[in-house]
Order: sequence, then C-alpha cells, then structure tokens
Amino acid sequence: MLKELEEQYVLPTYTRNYTNFVSGKNAVLKDENNKEYIDFTSGIGVVSVGHGNERVAKAICEQVSRITHISNLYAIEPQAKCAQRIVRQSGYDMKCFFANSGAEANEGAIKIARKYGEVEGQVKRYKIITLDQSFHGRTITALKATGQEAMHNYFGPFPDGFTYAKDIDAIEGMIDEHTVAVMIEVVQGEGGVQPLDKVKVQALEKMLKKRDILLIVDEVQTGVYRTGEFLASNLYEITPDIITMAKGLGGGVPIGVVMTTKKEIFKAGDHGSTFGGNYLSTTAANTVLDILEEYKNSGELDRMLIKFELHLNALFEKYPKIFSSSVGFGMMRGLRVVDAPTLASIIKTGHEKGVLVLKAGRNTLRLLPPLTITEVEIIEGFKRLDEALSTL
Ligand SMILES: *Cc1c(COP(=O)(O)O)cnc(C)c1O
Repeated sequence: MLKELEEQYVLPTYTRNYTNFVSGKNAVLKDENNKEYIDFTSGIGVVSVGHGNERVAKAICEQVSRITHISNLYAIEPQAKCAQRIVRQSGYDMKCFFANSGAEANEGAIKIARKYGEVEGQVKRYKIITLDQSFHGRTITALKATGQEAMHNYFGPFPDGFTYAKDIDAIEGMIDEHTVAVMIEVVQGEGGVQPLDKVKVQALEKMLKKRDILLIVDEVQTGVYRTGEFLASNLYEITPDIITMAKGLGGGVPIGVVMTTKKEIFKAGDHGSTFGGNYLSTTAANTVLDILEEYKNSGELDRMLIKFELHLNALFEKYPKIFSSSVGFGMMRGLRVVDAPTLASIIKTGHEKGVLVLKAGRNTLRLLPPLTITEVEIIEGFKRLDEALSTL
C-alpha cells in the first residue's frame, strides 16, 4: 500500500492525502480506482498547460533522447532561447539566471540585491523589507524573507537584514540607510490570495526608484499568465528591478528563474547552479511558453478566465453563510471561508465528490486550475464543488 510505504520511508513534512493518482488529461485526474477528479489546483499552480500535455511530453522526449544535461560551463541553446522568450513575453529589458525552484530563484534575487548594495553607494546596504504573511520559500534565507514568524521556529540563526512591514503603507517608514531592496508578491499566494492595491504598488515603485532601492517582485506563483497577463507586474503596470518565477514555468518540470534590469551585476563565478537551465527544464519551459503565448494571443485564455469567474461568482453568491468575499485575478482565485474547520470540510467533501481545491492562509479556499482548463471542465468542477457545499 502506498500509505504504508510512504509512512515508512518519507519524512512526514506534509499532511498528506493518500489518493494514488495514476494519470491525467488537462484538468482531469484519475486515481488507481479509475475515479475522476477535476483538478482546480494544478499541483499548486504548476501544471499550467494541464496534465498529460502531449506537446510538452513530445518536446521533452525528443530532447532527452538526444541530451538531458550538459553543465553550465557550456552554452545551452534551449536555455538561451528560454531567456529570450521570457524577456520578450515580459516586455522588460532584463537578463535571466536559471535555477530549479522558487526558493532558489529568490535566493538569486537576494544575492543580486546584496551585491548591488555592496558595490553601489557610499555605505554597504544589505537590508531587505518584505511583507507580513508573505511567502518566499523554504531555504534558510528565503524562509527568513518569509513574513510568517511561526515558520521560523527551530531553524535559526538566520542571515541578518530581513524585516517585515505590516502592510504596504508601512514600508517607507522602515527604510534606513542600509536598506537595499523591498520584496513583495503583488498578489500574495500562500498568505491567502491577497492582492495588493495597484495604485499603492505603483506609488511604492516610484518611491523606491527615487531612493535607489530595488523592487523585487516574487512572481513564483503569479507569473506565467496565472493572473491573465504574462506577469502580475504587467497587470499592475510596474517595472520591477528583479522578478522571480518558477511554479507554472515548466509545466511540472522543476525550473526557476530570476531576471533583472541590473544586467551587469553578476560577474563569472558570482552565482551558479548545477542543474539550473539544463536541456530538460528549459525545453519544457520553451514549449509551455509557446503554448501559453498562443493561448493568450488567440483570446482563448481571456475567454476562459471570464467563464471561470462567472461560475466562481455564482458559487460565491449561492453560499453567503459560508463565503465572506471573493478575491484574486485570472486563474488565481480565492473565496474567504467563515472559519478554518469549514474550509477543511469543503476540501475533504470536494475530494469525495471529485474536485480538488486548495487552502491558503488560515481560511481561504484557493483555486489554481490549469490555465488551459476547458469550459466543460470548469462547469463540471463547479458542479462538484456545489454538491460538496450543499452537504455542509
Ligand atoms: C511556492 C512559492 C515559493 C517557493 O517555491 P518553491 O519552488 O517551493 O521553492 C516562493 N514564492 C512564492 C510566492 C511561492 O508561491
């Protein structure tokens, strides 16, 4: 049995569900008993082009049957092309560094900021301000950057220089002569699908530019069309100094990227990664980026965003005793639930009825479907969610 095997050999860092999924097609997953589920999670925003995507599978197979990996001591053609695609689709004048995860991309962002603070200006600047309830990853430094004190238990001492603003308005008052950067998610994901105010983010960008403090936008969850635009920074009409991405970029193949306008900041030897940007991950990302760019340009993504929102709002309005507000953009959505136990039973009952949904923060029901979800899958998923809610 999977449960016994897992419990005997895998460290218990997750509260796991033991359903054994064996196959999937776009937003539909099948378990070992042939039960079907509509996947409104896409593996926490990762499987952006759906399960079992044939174009991605074919591209990966074709690539790995020739070369899977050559070190970064050699130029890697799909990596260079991937950087070109990312820069072009973002519309920003930047260069990329490839890593393998969101936390690792954020480590790269922090290193860029730290080096900038070392080589620019009179005094050494190293402090980075992040927001309360932010999430930036699980490595020691990304964890320290994460504004959730409870997650810091046991793992100190941490690197110096991270402070947490209670909200975006509090950032300016916390800046001192050693501040080098501010790092934000414009829509907090893990913290509970919490979009920042667009006007305030634009004012923050201006204020930081004036003071030569870098704006880092963590787009690990919001990036790669999740909010409807290639980047949430595009949606907010800002130009950050540093942007990180990961989750949806490889369609399930691990990849992270940090991109920056500070194109000259790193010299050879300043940063590196064994696996980062190898043939496998960047070939996957290139195919994902092609699929999603075509999907966006054809108008189909925007059409489905509207359908998804329509059904979400209908559900929200049908259960005013359960939901207090509807939040988020595009295919990154949340419904605030009256309390955490009710949310837990929605997730559990939804699973029984054949729809997978996520939790975020304390009491937010989070929906991150594949970006290529079809209208039929949207309708079926919300029907099952409605069935689950009607039993509560
Ligand atoms: C998931 C997430 C991370 C961490 O990504 P990993 O790939 O798990 O390291 C960092 N930042 C944000 C905003 C995320 O949503």
